[in-house]
Amino acid sequence: MIAPQLRQQFADAFKCSPLIVRAPGRINLIGEHTDYNEGFVLPASINLASHVAVARRNDGRITLYSLEFNERVEADIDQLKPHNRWTDYVLGVVDQLLKRGYLLGGFNLMLTSDIPIGAGLSSSAAVECAVALALDKLFDLNIDKLELALIAQHAEHQFTGTMCGIMDQFASLFGRKDHVVKLDCRSLEHQHLPFNFPGIEIVLFDTGVKHTLASSEYNTRRKECAEGVSMIGKRYPQVSSLRDATAAMVDECIPIDSVIYNRCRYVVEENERLLAACDDLKNGDIFAFGKKMFQTHSGLSNLYEVSCPELDLLVEKVKDMPGVLGARMMGGGFGGCTINLVNSLNSETVINNTSAAYREAMGKALSIYRVWLSDGASVLV
Ligand code: ADP
Ligand code: MG
Repeated sequence: MIAPQLRQQFADAFKCSPLIVRAPGRINLIGEHTDYNEGFVLPASINLASHVAVARRNDGRITLYSLEFNERVEADIDQLKPHNRWTDYVLGVVDQLLKRGYLLGGFNLMLTSDIPIGAGLSSSAAVECAVALALDKLFDLNIDKLELALIAQHAEHQFTGTMCGIMDQFASLFGRKDHVVKLDCRSLEHQHLPFNFPGIEIVLFDTGVKHTLASSEYNTRRKECAEGVSMIGKRYPQVSSLRDATAAMVDECIPIDSVIYNRCRYVVEENERLLAACDDLKNGDIFAFGKKMFQTHSGLSNLYEVSCPELDLLVEKVKDMPGVLGARMMGGGFGGCTINLVNSLNSETVINNTSAAYREAMGKALSIYRVWLSDGASVLV
């Protein structure tokens, strides 16, 4: 329903017919804080998406309009720079394309999205990927999907200053309906694994909080992991990231009661857990998969220490509820969502009871998103 309305609004505003591209948000089933340790992640593109309508202009001007921000902004293609606002996610992509030597002209662009902003579903990557694919088609650039993902990622780095990994953009572009994407963050090789369990729903509980600790602790974790690698590397020079380390190496090389030990143990275990979880999917064992999500949460909370009381409460509350197969915090931590695998027969009760418990404990409402796995980015018309 979104595309026809967007087409009409675009035609009303710009008096011409647009090309429309859809790029989805993403979830990550398992594999958290493994990306910058060159490990694996298991994201999937979802039904919530960003839609972008574009048409060429015959001058060098760019006009951008976001329906959610209800704002129209003009820019000159020869003078692009970040302005610390939503347009950076669009113009950053244009800037990347120009830096890579692609020939673009001016264009009109209208943007709309039903991905909640800042909830950890990567509304930013969806905007970038939609814009990148739309401009690729509009100007016949023939860029392959991996390069589009890198363009989108570098747009975010350079125009918004967020040093994100590649997972979000990769998932938005490479996702497939009823599949997860097993992505090797070292080689960028990927594999689609079926994830289609009728009667099982994916429910996200949004804490509605983002503690200020998030970015400083993220940098600290990266340093702690690097420190662990250098301790292991003294005895095992072939280990250049935690991706190469085993649990036995961590035990042997890092003092067992140290913070670094806990961080490294978590990452090494999480990589192993993800590989085992992929075997669960191949075996059709969603129950075993769900149990691993609880283990991931426990590792993130106790060893990696990136959870918070709100996230811990949500996972603790659902743990013993009938019909809950798995639950964990999702994303960088210190806020955002939990992801839950729930039997459809129990989902209403689980949602109602968890909302009530959250309100009672935290004094605020829980936002709930029921999501399913949809295709990655594509041109619609
Ligand atoms: P998220 O976890 O959702 O990716 P970010 O802070 O990384 O959160 O990105 C959110 C930003 O992306 C918004 O502040 C805005 O600048 C941009 N954005 C997302 N959706 C839209 C939209 N519909 N219109 C314009 N900008 C958007
Ligand atoms: Mg983002």
